[in-house]
Amino acid sequence: MDGNDIVIDGGVSVTLPDNGAIYFPPHIVTVLKMLNEAGFEAFAVGGCVRDAMMGITPHDYDVCTDAETEDIKKVFDGFNVIETGIKHGTVTVLSGGKPIEITTYRIDGDYKDHRRPEKVIFTKSIEDDLKRRDFTVNAMAVSLDGKFCCAGDGVKDLKDGVIRCVGVAENRFSEDALRILRAMRFAARFGFEIEEETFRAMKCKRNLLAYISSERIFAELSGLLLVEDGKRASRVLDICKDIVSVIIPEFKPAFNCDQSSRHHKYNVWQHILHTLDNAENDIFLRWALFLHDICKPYFMVVGIDGRGHFPGHDFYGAAVARDILKRLKAPGELCENVYLLIKYHDLRLSPSRKNAAKILQLMGEENALRLLKMMRYDILAQSSFRQDEKLEMVELLEKNINKYIAEQSCLNVKDLCIGGSDIIALGIKPGPRIKEILNELLESVIDGNVENDRQQLLLLAEKIVKR
Ligand code: ATP
Ligand code: MG
Repeated sequence: MDGNDIVIDGGVSVTLPDNGAIYFPPHIVTVLKMLNEAGFEAFAVGGCVRDAMMGITPHDYDVCTDAETEDIKKVFDGFNVIETGIKHGTVTVLSGGKPIEITTYRIDGDYKDHRRPEKVIFTKSIEDDLKRRDFTVNAMAVSLDGKFCCAGDGVKDLKDGVIRCVGVAENRFSEDALRILRAMRFAARFGFEIEEETFRAMKCKRNLLAYISSERIFAELSGLLLVEDGKRASRVLDICKDIVSVIIPEFKPAFNCDQSSRHHKYNVWQHILHTLDNAENDIFLRWALFLHDICKPYFMVVGIDGRGHFPGHDFYGAAVARDILKRLKAPGELCENVYLLIKYHDLRLSPSRKNAAKILQLMGEENALRLLKMMRYDILAQSSFRQDEKLEMVELLEKNINKYIAEQSCLNVKDLCIGGSDIIALGIKPGPRIKEILNELLESVIDGNVENDRQQLLLLAEKIVKR
C-alpha cells in the first residue's frame, strides 16, 4: 500500500487513473495480501475495476495472479478452496464467507468450436493475461499497492462510453462467438456505443453463434433484455437486429412489416422495441414484450378498407414464443408465464368484474397484474388513435382485478362454501353431474348473482337440481 490508499474498516480504497477509486472490502484485501506476502503478484481484474471506475459498487471481485494452482492452494491452506476450473487455472477461495475467483495469468491456446480454447498456457505476465480478455473496458487490473495495468486504452474507452475489442475484432469473435452477445449486453447495460470495427466484425461473424450453446445464448440475451433502462436494450436490439435474427429468425419479417393500421405509428419491429422502452425490468414482462407480436407479420390480413388486421397473432404468437424459449433452454416457468401473457395480451374484454375474475382464473394473480402492465406498455407504443380510451379500459380492468383480489372472492370450485357432499345430500349420485353443478354455482358467484354464502348456495343448488 502507498500513501494514497485509505484504510477503512479493514477495507482499502485504492486510487485509479482518471481520479476514480476502487474500494477493496476486507475479504478481498485478505486474499490480495496473502498472495503478495507469499511473493506473488495479485490484481483485481475485469468487471470490478470497470464498475469502480464508473462509480458503481462492484458486485463481485475477480483476482488474477502469477501463482499457479498448486501455489494458490498452498497460500490458502486452511481456507475452503474449491477447484472450479483447474484446467483454465481458476480456483475459488472462500474468504470471509464470500467466494472469490482466483485465476492464474494465462494465454489462451487455439480455440475449438468458436467458444473455448483447446488448452491454456500459464504465464508470468499480467499484460499477456489482459490481452486474452474480451473488451478494453474489461481488460483493466489494479493491485493493492495501486499498480494499474490494461490492454488497450480501457480508461479512455470507458470515459468515451465505447465497447471495443482487445486486439483484432474479427479474430476475437472467431475465437469465441459468445463475445458478440457480450458486446451487445455491455453496450445495453451501460448505454455505450460499439466501436465501428468491433461492430462490423460482430455482424460479419454473427453466424458463428450457431456454435454457442442455447443456455449461454439465453443467459446473454436475458441479461441484455433485463438491463435497467429498457430504452438502452431496445436501442442495441435495433442496431443488432441482424444478429438477433440469427438466434431468433422468426423475427425477420417483423423488421419491415408496416401495419397499415390507425392504431399503430410504428412497424411491427419498432413497435415491439418501443414496448420495452419504459417496461420495468421483470424477466417475465421483458421477455413477453420482446416476443409478444412475433407472429403479427404471419397473420396480417389487409381489409378492403386497406387496413391491417392480425387475427390469431396472439394465440399463435404465444405458442411460437414458448417454442423459441424452449429452444433456448429457458426455465420452464419463464416459458409458461410468457406463453400466458402473450396469449392474453390483446384481450378486448369489457373491463367487468366477471372478466376480471376470468383473467384471474386463467393466469393467477401475479400474471394478471403483469398482464395489466404489459397491456399499458403495448398501448403506449401504439399510435394516439383511441389511446386514452384504451388506457382507461385497462385502468377499469385493473380496478376490478384489484377489487376481486382484495375481496378474496372465489375463483375455483374448491373456494366455494359448499362442496360435493352437499350436492350428494340433495340426491345427486356421485359422478360428473356434481362437478357440473358446482361449476354453475361458481359461475353465478363470479357473475355476482349470488354470494359465496352457504345458505344462498344451497338454495341455488336445490333449484339447479330440480330444474
Ligand atoms: P459482469 O458485471 O457482467 O459480471 P464482468 O466483466 O465481470 O461483468 P464476467 O463474465 O464475470 O464479466 O467475466 C469476468 C472477466 O473475464 C471479464 O471482465 C473479462 O475480462 C473476462 N471474460 C469473461 N468472459 C470472456 C470471454 N468470453 N472472452 C474474453 N474474456 C472474457
Ligand atoms: Mg463478473
